[in-house]
Amino acid sequence: MRDEYDDTIDGKHLAPESLMMGYGYHPEWSEGALKSPIFQTSTFTFTSAEQGKRFFEIACGLREAAEGEDVGLIYSRMNNPDLEILEDRLTLWDGAERALAFSSGMAAIATTVLAHLQAGDVLLHTAPLYGGTDHLVKEILPALGIDTVEWEPGMARGEIEERVAARVGARRPGMILMETPANPTNHLFDIELAAAIADGYSTSERKVLVAVDNTFLGPVWQHPLQHGADIVIYSATKYIGGHSDLIAGACLGSCASIAPIAALRSVLGTMASPWTGWLIMRSLETLDLRMRKQTENAQRVAQFLAHHPKVRLVKYLGLLDAADPQHEIYKRQCLGPGAMISFEIEGGEAESYRFLNALKLVHLAVSLGSTESLAEHPATMTHAGVDPEEKAKLGVGPALVRLSVGVERADDIVLDLGQALEAV
Ligand code: PLP
Repeated sequence: MRDEYDDTIDGKHLAPESLMMGYGYHPEWSEGALKSPIFQTSTFTFTSAEQGKRFFEIACGLREAAEGEDVGLIYSRMNNPDLEILEDRLTLWDGAERALAFSSGMAAIATTVLAHLQAGDVLLHTAPLYGGTDHLVKEILPALGIDTVEWEPGMARGEIEERVAARVGARRPGMILMETPANPTNHLFDIELAAAIADGYSTSERKVLVAVDNTFLGPVWQHPLQHGADIVIYSATKYIGGHSDLIAGACLGSCASIAPIAALRSVLGTMASPWTGWLIMRSLETLDLRMRKQTENAQRVAQFLAHHPKVRLVKYLGLLDAADPQHEIYKRQCLGPGAMISFEIEGGEAESYRFLNALKLVHLAVSLGSTESLAEHPATMTHAGVDPEEKAKLGVGPALVRLSVGVERADDIVLDLGQALEAV
């Protein structure tokens, strides 16, 4: 659908936020409706049996599409207009060739990894990871015969390669999976370094791919493809959806890296529904506005927390010290600090709980990136299933609270946090 839409004026490309209201959709497809309808249908009729055969030949890879020939709409597990228009719009933010929408962020991550790795392969991954991803790499993948090796914050290339060799001998990783910034600590990992490591492990037969979970900063504040990543992954439940009313995911990259994921998605049925696709298109119209406002608020909130006597440590990208090696990665890789703040309260679990239970405006709930501010306790909630020793090593302790800053009036968020801290 993408090629049929002009995204330029006088040869100049328009910005994603200018294109989110209509890109990839023509009103004449739907009786002049300004907005795309919800194509709430499981299947699509063929005009002839011959047409059905042609569509399936392309969809099943029996032959290449001829110049200008469309794959054609078949069945909503394989394709649907709401998902196709959404996917075309998603490519714009990250400068990707192709995007895929999924039923959840976890569906996007799992389908991406399983499409590119098989039994006997090795996955190198950063840590910490979101609790669900941590479970996937520690429990599910090893049970399928895929070994996993951890890359912890601050490790240099030599240390990472030594650890890989110590764990899996002469075998090479087939993929690097990164979460940067990491949930919940905001640790940054260097995507260019990952690309260099992947190059070192690549052979003429196999390119080692770098996949980046960009949920915490993207798609406005970080563009991993520009730093050498091959695939970008999102929990679209977060900023992209942005209103705490849907669960979805996405992955993006070159046509070559996305094609095997699309094929597996069609078989597993991990795609998003048309209704979810439509809701995300509505959300994308305000993505830039929301993320900018949330980040502005978060900067104010982080300053407040950093000076509060009952707070002993604030992990926020906007507060990184210039002498911190993380600052150098931030400057090179990120366009803004985002709206995720983790901080340690003086005390432990009891003090953190007292704070969380006293909140009035900020909601006590997991998830992030939505219009309302949310707070949670990673050690016993989102990261409850992570190995306790690993949590301690990575700084996910009993005093840590994670805050996702919303679009409310900044003064009101600060007022609420202040009164809840008084309860500690
Ligand atoms: N990646 C990150 C960084 C997350 O924080 C989450 C969920 O919190 C996920 C992936 C999983 O996304 P979903 O809940 O949409 O499956």
